[in-house]
Amino acid sequence: MAEIEKPGTNGEQTASNFIHNIIEKDLENQTYGNRVYTRFPPEPNGYLHIGHAKSICLNFSTAQKYNGKCNLRFDDTNPVKEDTEYVESIEADVKWLGFQWDKLLFASDYFDKMYECAVALIQKGKAYVCDLTAEEMKQHRGTLTEPGKESPYRTRSVQENLELFESMKQGQFKDGEKVLRAKIDMSSPNINMRDPVIYRIAHAEHHNTGDKWCIYPMYDYAHPIEDAIEGITHSICTLEFEDHRPLYDWVLKELEWEQPPQQIEFARLNLTNMVMSKRYLKALVDDGNVDGWDDPRMPTIAGLRRRGFTPEAIRDFCERIGVSKANSMVDIALLEHCIREDLKDKVESRMVVMNPLKVVITNYPEDVTEEVDIENSKEDEAKGIRKVPFSRELYVERDDFMEIPEKKYFRLFPGNEVRFKGAYFITCQDVVKDDDGNVTELRCTYDPETRSGSGFDGRKVKGTIHWVDAKTAVKIKIRSYGYLMIEDEKGENILNPDSLKEFEAYGEPALLHTAAGTRYQFFRHGYYIADEALTNDSDKVFNQIVDLKSSWKK
Ligand code: ATP
Ligand code: MG
Repeated sequence: MAEIEKPGTNGEQTASNFIHNIIEKDLENQTYGNRVYTRFPPEPNGYLHIGHAKSICLNFSTAQKYNGKCNLRFDDTNPVKEDTEYVESIEADVKWLGFQWDKLLFASDYFDKMYECAVALIQKGKAYVCDLTAEEMKQHRGTLTEPGKESPYRTRSVQENLELFESMKQGQFKDGEKVLRAKIDMSSPNINMRDPVIYRIAHAEHHNTGDKWCIYPMYDYAHPIEDAIEGITHSICTLEFEDHRPLYDWVLKELEWEQPPQQIEFARLNLTNMVMSKRYLKALVDDGNVDGWDDPRMPTIAGLRRRGFTPEAIRDFCERIGVSKANSMVDIALLEHCIREDLKDKVESRMVVMNPLKVVITNYPEDVTEEVDIENSKEDEAKGIRKVPFSRELYVERDDFMEIPEKKYFRLFPGNEVRFKGAYFITCQDVVKDDDGNVTELRCTYDPETRSGSGFDGRKVKGTIHWVDAKTAVKIKIRSYGYLMIEDEKGENILNPDSLKEFEAYGEPALLHTAAGTRYQFFRHGYYIADEALTNDSDKVFNQIVDLKSSWKK
């Protein structure tokens, strides 16, 4: 495994990155005049993930920074795996992240132009139709240490190639029977330059062009043409395409494009406890291991959104990780840090008891319910206060009681006094147990003089705990999440079999009116959002966004 980067170590100085340095040189040299034009080119074969967010932020904010433009272009040259559902989700995700494209484009709209370009290459003697099978082609390709072998079809005449390519287009051959290859150099040290395939036959329905085409351009051939047609200046992609750059440049040189765009590679985002591959994520969805692409455990933008992440937090994260040429692994704790930072003074706080233990205040009148004032946010006074009912019977967290306290335990135990958040000082006097000896109820007393805000200035207590009033509490559902991926004993990444816990909890009555999509801090627990899909008038289902404590050590 790659070394895990300390979150935030390169976060403070990401205002510039090496790509911006290249662009500034180009502006100085007027390589493209004053133009800076980027694009985000997803293949619509799945939902976007947080890795794509890195590329989106980079492309769109680079264009913004230099008064340039950025296109959203669907790289839809592979008909079999693409779908309009994905097209729509990608558009929604880019917008949600807060970016607006200059143009919305489809690579498939350029199929005619790409075909013309291929014909032009054939006419120049730079491409030929090859009949080798995939297996034979592999044998001819050579290895890193041995040169490849030329195809016997390499010397076909221009005329024959033109006719065969036209017949390929007309549908006269079956899938795999023939391909069009660039004629470059079978002994190139770069295997990508050993007469790569640039067109293949696929009798498949395309989501955009239907059955108009049965030949489709290969990515390495199509991409530079797409960029060039759109007038892209800086074509930013991930590191695995570095070895493909000579082919990118070859295509544009042979097509004699003026001011050709330049490809610049950066390192992909890898996150601990996550997988960043559409193929893997799609398998999770298809196999029913998660509840769809927007399952809150997924690293997809849709999943993060449903989980309660904000666009601000994701953009902040992308800023902090920066852009570099070296592959690395980013600690997911940094992403969690970013959402905590963003929500800290944005959301209101509420009290929720997840694992209830009943408390009876024996000296509190039986038929009285009073309302205590509790501030909505510790961070932001302007958020005001709310009234919360308090009466003789309450719930507290089981964890906030210990019959025999450990050292430094300042919460409830027999004889100890604590503050109930926003209400009174309460002393645990006694416990009630069931037949098995489990504590089922705490018998407590309160001191009426200690009501919060009453100006009481007497003794201090060390613990403040949250509570809900038993009579008026509302039942809510909590979904709490573990990481999608964990390491097994052998250190291998496996799917966490225990990544979702769902249980009921008691909340203060105001939660009954929570609208789907509302975020709260549940006091002493963490940040939560009312699930968009599962929350309605009668059911309140909250996704845990992140807990309060940071495992990120500065
Ligand atoms: P995956 O491997 O997850 O299927 P992909 O690279 O095939 O992703 P594309 O739709 O081709 O997905 O990607 C669109 C853009 O997003 C590309 O420019 C790609 O380089 C970039 N991208 C994809 N994954 C990451 C990542 N983990 N970090 C940064 N950029 C990424
Ligand atoms: Mg791809």
